[in-house]
Amino acid sequence: MSARVRTTARRRPPRPTARRPAASRGARAAGSRSGRPTPRDLIREADQARRRAYAPYSDFPVGAALLTRQGRVIHGCNVENASYGLCVCAERTALWKALIEGESEFTAIAVTARQGHGAPPCGACRQVLFEFAPRLWVYWRDGRGRILRRRLAELLAMPFVLRTGRRA
Ligand SMILES: [Zn+2]
Repeated sequence: MSARVRTTARRRPPRPTARRPAASRGARAAGSRSGRPTPRDLIREADQARRRAYAPYSDFPVGAALLTRQGRVIHGCNVENASYGLCVCAERTALWKALIEGESEFTAIAVTARQGHGAPPCGACRQVLFEFAPRLWVYWRDGRGRILRRRLAELLAMPFVLRTGRRA
């Protein structure tokens, strides 16, 4: 598919801000008694992340909040492109950001779309997340706002695993 040329930009990419991300603030403050974010906290973090989504083509902003084993919350959002095949999901931008920042152990991820829309991870994201965290908990809301949760291994039947592949 060739890229479509638009004569008017519907939305500019968000400008970087100096504001500290809500990531570690909200989740820790509102966390469970153990100090770790609850599923509801993580959903709230994903909602925050969704505000940064760049989704002018689909108009379907998605946010993700990835929880590290140490209790850190890392945000991701979908980032689209005029060349549609280059669009990237929120779950993967969160994972890549985490890896770049030296995190590689994860216990949960929350994914949200706007109210009334469920947003469980797509197949590609399930496979990519499985590489790093097969036992990951995945949280998302159904169309009525209820929080659903599944282990990633339940969501991805028979993942591709390359036995000879080794992470650096
Ligand atoms: Zn995806």
